Amino acid sequence: MAGKYDYDLFVIGAGSGGVRASRIAAGHGARVAVAEEYRVGGTCVIRGCVPKKLLVYASHFAEDFEEAAGFGWTVGETRFSWEKLIANKDREIDRLNGIYIRNLKNAGVEIVESRAVLKDAHTVHLVKEDRDVTADKILVATGAWPFMPAIPGIEHAITSNEAFHLAELPKRIVVVGGGYIAVEFAGIFNGLGAQTTQLYRGPLFLRGFDDDLREILAQEMVKKGVDLRMNIDIAKIERTTVGALALTLTDGSVHETDAVMYATGRAPNTAGLGLETAGVALGPKGEILVDKFSKTNIDNIYAVGDVTDRANLTPVAIREGQAFAETVFNGNPIAVDHSVIPTAVFSQPEMGTVGLTEAEARAKLGEIDIYKTSFRPMKGTLSGSEEKTFMKLVVEPQSQRVLGVHILGPTSGEIIQAIGIAVTMGATKAQFDATVAVHPTASEELVTLKEKWQPPAAQAAD
Ligand SMILES: Cc1cc2nc3c(=O)[nH]c(=O)nc-3n(C[C@H](O)[C@H](O)[C@H](O)COP(=O)(O)OP(=O)(O)OC[C@H]3O[C@@H](n4cnc5c(N)ncnc54)[C@H](O)[C@@H]3O)c2cc1C
Repeated sequence: MAGKYDYDLFVIGAGSGGVRASRIAAGHGARVAVAEEYRVGGTCVIRGCVPKKLLVYASHFAEDFEEAAGFGWTVGETRFSWEKLIANKDREIDRLNGIYIRNLKNAGVEIVESRAVLKDAHTVHLVKEDRDVTADKILVATGAWPFMPAIPGIEHAITSNEAFHLAELPKRIVVVGGGYIAVEFAGIFNGLGAQTTQLYRGPLFLRGFDDDLREILAQEMVKKGVDLRMNIDIAKIERTTVGALALTLTDGSVHETDAVMYATGRAPNTAGLGLETAGVALGPKGEILVDKFSKTNIDNIYAVGDVTDRANLTPVAIREGQAFAETVFNGNPIAVDHSVIPTAVFSQPEMGTVGLTEAEARAKLGEIDIYKTSFRPMKGTLSGSEEKTFMKLVVEPQSQRVLGVHILGPTSGEIIQAIGIAVTMGATKAQFDATVAVHPTASEELVTLKEKWQPPAAQAAD
């Protein structure tokens, strides 16, 4: 390969996509370096999926202690230490960070602890070391960054980045946003005992997810104590004389709280990267435009992960990184299929979803078959919990192919991973029905749904 450059591949960003691409390319014999300006592992490991899930686990215990009584347990006095949780979480993140570093080194990848920016199509400037290196191929895998609106007093607000390192658990918190990160953090803070308000400027949060799930989740979150308010936003944030925050809302009311967390979207990390100098084309959100092999308009520059704003999830970034390395360094062209992506929202209750929502399927096909059920899971009979589990199958009428599965309830994320295999394979409703149920489980409902759901008007006409 190109001996005239310092490296065959230079990767900017050691997150989910960059790490995978670096390791696979090095495995195929390429001379690879990866630059990281913060911590190896990237968002998911350091301040995303992993620490978030640990906090979700922590926040479930209050409910678990309460529910234990129905099963004969007497739980003594309970106390929660945020400080201990964060210290334990940090220890685990340090361990994972160490593993990522070791894996890269073992694969023969050189790690450069510095911000890196492009100087031209083959030259990267390492900011910390103030030196330039050259590479035949360059992969941009710089991820995304929380977006915050420029309202007065926004400097008093935090994002998910800071939420993982708060010195103490706020007594009262307001979470702003309607995406999955906002919903997950509202559940975390509420479960840990903070008086939690979630504000969303639209009519219903989790746009893009199945409407039934969105509505039922909203009801369940309210039952659990989250003060959920839609069609509202913050106009202004002010620090009060007693150190609290006074939020002036868009309806003119004032809400006092101790902390405000914005989870109002994430913008691709492309600012100041030198992409314009290298001639790399960007889309309207600042995302790097790529083809199906993750190649930009510049022949030797590629981009994977959140910076391309395709499907902003870790397993997708990993796949794109792997496909890039296989395509470019192993002569094995792979285009990642983004059409069926199973995913979970670690809300409380949890959501698992794969394939088309009912609304998407109707818009695409007109006629569709819907099977759905809502029930109180078995555990609730003794725990006393009134929480509902909900499941829906979206089925194509002619082929009977299951186009989408949507679940709200405990361990939905685990269930949807397995169901995702069937949906990816193109399984039909008849094949779901032919699958023997596992009893007693909640997910057995997925293979025993008999009655096609009729919209209320059609029911009345029957
Ligand atoms: C709170 C939160 C929860 C999440 N939960 C989930 C979840 O449950 N499941 C899921 O699938 N996804 C989740 N995600 C999304 C997931 O983290 C991202 O999709 C994933 O990390 C994207 O990988 P990436 O390689 O594109 O970028 P990243 O993992 O963000 O890595 C980019 C890296 O590049 C570095 N970098 C940026 N610019 C430069 C530069 N100029 N020079 C050097 N280094 C640079 C950054 O420091 C970073 O380490 C979550 C995200 C957040 C914020």
